[in-house]
Amino acid sequence: MIRASGLRKSYPGFDLRVADLRVPEGSFITMLGPSGAGKSTLLRLLAGMEAAQDGVLERRGRAVYLDQDNIVLERNVIDNAVFGLRLMGVASAEARRRLRPWLARVGLAERLRQPAAKLSGGERARLALVRALATEPDVLLLDEPTQSLDPKNVAMVEALLREAHTRGRSVVLVTHNLHQARRLGEETWLLLDGRIVEQAPTETFFASPRSREAKAYLAGEMVY
Ligand code: ADP
Ligand code: MG
Repeated sequence: MIRASGLRKSYPGFDLRVADLRVPEGSFITMLGPSGAGKSTLLRLLAGMEAAQDGVLERRGRAVYLDQDNIVLERNVIDNAVFGLRLMGVASAEARRRLRPWLARVGLAERLRQPAAKLSGGERARLALVRALATEPDVLLLDEPTQSLDPKNVAMVEALLREAHTRGRSVVLVTHNLHQARRLGEETWLLLDGRIVEQAPTETFFASPRSREAKAYLAGEMVY
């Protein structure tokens, strides 16, 4: 569970302000917004990776942030995959044992000894995702996790996310894919110029958006 109020984070030329925000336990939130709206900044604040200049943030449970650049370490696939668990103090053999089924599910079981940096963008995305999922976090903060994936792998990742959600995890998913936001979300936020301009149950958001901005965004009239 994450609760925030009066959040403010400014960079030169950019100002994020969020009056009130809640990620309830077990929720699935999809976050939309043009590039530069502040989606990644907001996720990093929620993850506690960056400090706000103002406001109150309360987080119960462990949150994991998945960077949109799918950062991998200069190590092979298995050593990358176990990294999250190793940071949590899980012994190497046990961490490897736990990662095997995850890597099999995302089609990387045969690639364990390969340098992760040599993987394709889509493979790195799947590796980064299982590295996070294997640590069984309470909250998953996912920054465009399917942006470089083909449709088959999008479906695979969506299945993993649904499963995590079914097992009680909260998910905040940033995506530019409106179909995906609608398929997966229970609640949807639209971020624009550092403000949440619309926040509604997902079906309501798509079927009858209230704000002028959300209507324009859904109609594809927003240039970005
Ligand atoms: P989005 O994820 O919606 O594309 P970001 O949160 O990445 O947007 O960025 C929002 C704005 O904040 C952009 O103008 C970006 O250049 C700026 N910004 C993000 N991170 C930093 C940073 N570490 N230092 C300076 N400016 C930043
Ligand atoms: Mg971003």
